[in-house]
Amino acid sequence: MIKENLRLIRERIKKAISKRSAAAEDIVLVAVTKAVAPEIINEAWELGINNFGENRVQDALPKIELLPPEIKWHFIGHLQTNKVRQVLPVFQLIHSLDSIKLARAIQKEAQKTNMIANVLLQVNIGEEKSKYGFLWEEVPDALVELTKFKNLKVFGLMGIAPYVQNPEEVRPYFRRLHGLFKEINVPGVEMKYLSMGMSNDFEVALEEGANMIRVGTALFGSRG
Ligand SMILES: *Cc1c(COP(=O)(O)O)cnc(C)c1O
Repeated sequence: MIKENLRLIRERIKKAISKRSAAAEDIVLVAVTKAVAPEIINEAWELGINNFGENRVQDALPKIELLPPEIKWHFIGHLQTNKVRQVLPVFQLIHSLDSIKLARAIQKEAQKTNMIANVLLQVNIGEEKSKYGFLWEEVPDALVELTKFKNLKVFGLMGIAPYVQNPEEVRPYFRRLHGLFKEINVPGVEMKYLSMGMSNDFEVALEEGANMIRVGTALFGSRG
């Protein structure tokens, strides 16, 4: 079943980027494995998926221990400062840097182990009270502020669109985030990854310039 889902997703990715000057190899598919058992994750890994995303530290760590060390793990959920220590050694990219307070905690912890933490700055693109992330107008100053943290490097932006039935409704948010992504010019900040798009809206996100999508349900089926 995963094999067929993956085939369909890859086809949909190809179609969505056909009007852009991007190749399928330029798109990073992050398979979101919250509530997915390690055996199933391993199956996906054997089918050639190398990037996996988890949103809760406690759920992720026991699974990560059981899975191939070559896997690249992405942290995509809200990260509490007291969990930073557990996240840094195992996750290659944190998509959800949503406050300067969190950046400070990451800096402190990364410095201890002399590592560089790779992060994406999360933007609250729908300006929703229920969601985390910097507000649009806060992003430029935040990026400058973040360059002061020497053990943290920003590699791009992440956004979660409001949930809607018709993904066309969120196109303007994705378009705006891509515009910001292109516009940013802060020394020390590399705008490499634009993480936007989930099962419900990844095609629209890809059409609007995403190069990293986070897909759970379309790959593994719906969780309970
Ligand atoms: C769960 C989750 C996803 C994947 O959602 P699906 O709709 O299952 O594809 C993507 N991003 C974040 C931040 C998530 O929490």
